[in-house]
Amino acid sequence: MSRRRKVYEGKAKTMYEGPEPGTLIQSFKDDATAFNNEKRGTITGKGVLNNRISEFLMTRLNDIGIPTHFIRRLNMREQLVRQVEIIPIEVVIRNVAAGSISKRFGIEEGTALPRPIIEYYYKSDELGDPLISEDHITAFGWAAVQDLDDMVALSLRINDFLTGLFVGVGLRLIDFKLEFGRLYTDEDMQIVLADEISPDNCRLWDTKTNEKLDKDRFRRDMGGVKEAYQEVARRLGVLPEAGPMDLKGPRGIQ
Ligand code: ADP
Ligand code: UDP
Repeated sequence: MSRRRKVYEGKAKTMYEGPEPGTLIQSFKDDATAFNNEKRGTITGKGVLNNRISEFLMTRLNDIGIPTHFIRRLNMREQLVRQVEIIPIEVVIRNVAAGSISKRFGIEEGTALPRPIIEYYYKSDELGDPLISEDHITAFGWAAVQDLDDMVALSLRINDFLTGLFVGVGLRLIDFKLEFGRLYTDEDMQIVLADEISPDNCRLWDTKTNEKLDKDRFRRDMGGVKEAYQEVARRLGVLPEAGPMDLKGPRGIQ
């Protein structure tokens, strides 16, 4: 067992000190939570699948010039990332009404929105991640106006790109959540995409059947959660080689 230092233990991931200064190891767990921690469970193999899916999507985004924290995948459950100063905002981009926006405005789930809608939530477990406005963000100093401009521009580019990528594999990107951070290099600072992109923080529906292939299966006790994540990985061509049986990964390198 390595004796690396744990920097942070979250609900879905553990962050360890990386091999070089300014890096972290992001380790994906099988734990799942919903409704601000009220519902907890384990989805066997989720960590392995999310590690692969997020690697794939972050790599494609890097390819088109979106700056991300991702450096490389290390093993079944872990990836090396650049340590950033996380901006404490969850940026939610919505293409189709579902979840909280449907409840808030009484819009039927599945209704296409007239244009992508960006929402911000303040990252705070104690407060239950409240919905906030751009004014809250700048007035309370969570991000500068320029940081926010960068986050919005990046979010819209990411949405356009991922929407097309998912359509190509028969999935509708209904909505998703992003986190950004500040990456400091010498005297420069850049806003980069951090955290993960996976069925834990995207809603993905089959284009033909509208079947849900994301965390809503866990939130709403629909069953077939692991199978849904596997199906997303399979469609993206990143299902671990040994297939579903190998989702726990080889012992010893977990
Ligand atoms: P939570 O904190 O909501 O329980 P996770 O279990 O996903 O979420 O934990 C991962 C934590 O690591 C999150 O708080 C996220 O903001 C943070 N994080 C993600 N990427 C980076 C990074 N590159 N540098 C620093 N922190 C990061
Ligand atoms: N989301 C997330 N983390 C959160 C809240 C939401 O990743 O703490 C994602 C969620 O998976 C969905 C989108 O953001 O893809 C919009 O979620 P919504 O506001 O509808 O909240 P929900 O009803 O899912 O709690």
